[in-house]
Amino acid sequence: MKAILLEEFNKDLKVTNIQEPNLSDEGVIVKIKANGICRSDWHIWKGHWKGISTPLVMGHEFTGIVEAVGSNVKKFKKGDRVIIPFSLSCGHCEYCLDGSGNVCTERQSAGITFNGGYGEFAHVPLADFNLAYLPEEIDFVSGAAMGCRFATSFHGIVNQAKVGAGEWVVVSGCGGVGLSALQFSVAMGANVICVDIDDRKLNLAKDLGASFVINSKESNVVDQIKEITNGGADVTIDALGNSEIVMNSLNSLKKKGRHLQLGIAPDNVNFDFQVRTLVNFEHQIIGSRGMPPQKFPYMLNMVKSNRLKPKDLVTKTVSPDQVNDVLQGMGSFDNLGITVLEW
Ligand SMILES: [Zn+2]
Ligand SMILES: [Zn+2]
Repeated sequence: MKAILLEEFNKDLKVTNIQEPNLSDEGVIVKIKANGICRSDWHIWKGHWKGISTPLVMGHEFTGIVEAVGSNVKKFKKGDRVIIPFSLSCGHCEYCLDGSGNVCTERQSAGITFNGGYGEFAHVPLADFNLAYLPEEIDFVSGAAMGCRFATSFHGIVNQAKVGAGEWVVVSGCGGVGLSALQFSVAMGANVICVDIDDRKLNLAKDLGASFVINSKESNVVDQIKEITNGGADVTIDALGNSEIVMNSLNSLKKKGRHLQLGIAPDNVNFDFQVRTLVNFEHQIIGSRGMPPQKFPYMLNMVKSNRLKPKDLVTKTVSPDQVNDVLQGMGSFDNLGITVLEW
């Protein structure tokens, strides 16, 4: 099959032919239709993350059609339209049994721990537990925008930070995760302030429903947020994974405020916070990782009913030989919204 192969970190990926994946008894083979190109792919490609082995077919946010089904799979059949959560689980650890497969102790991800959606076919293990149906109403490209960044934002905002109507939410970093977070916060009835250093991204944020936007290169973010919100935000979100954003976020919170960390950073990124303020202001710092597969239908229902529009975040679709250019562009944060590879 055709695949876009990462052979060496920080070198061009190669479009080449490799062997098709093997089918396990509990797994399915998916014929990939579309795959979102994520900042995590850029981190992997740059070699920022420990424990990644090459050669690797990246791609962890994809949609497709079930091509073959393992002998023990009960829920899926050949021809089903599916969406693959980026975080795949074992189905039997205490977290999986508790409905939190996104923090499974034996978690895996297609495109990270084994070959994923930058190829024509991918294997999805333990399909009955991990795979979700993609409703007919949602096209493959929109679906590919949802498996990682959209899902991560949904889980963070709805299940973790529990954003409520009328709250002030600050989203910092207006890439795919940030713009998804904006859409969900607006859908939950919150007022949203978006922060970025790129006016193009801030304009897109305005189009998608941000009440205010702040260019952090041009003004003091903390002062501006305090002024707009009349004292501080209820919820701040770092959608990028940057210690300066975390500190600005914590300093922008009102008392009892929650900081939601969605963006993931290289292993050496830490942040300092003042313990006294955390205690006295009763701030909460909330982590959020992906989304349990069982929660996918809730998100998909909101898309089906048109209350969320992942397609609005997709600014470009590309063919396999254009993927290197997309990854290069991510280095300078040039890319707008979500770019999707179509097979
Ligand atoms: Zn991703
Ligand atoms: Zn598990």
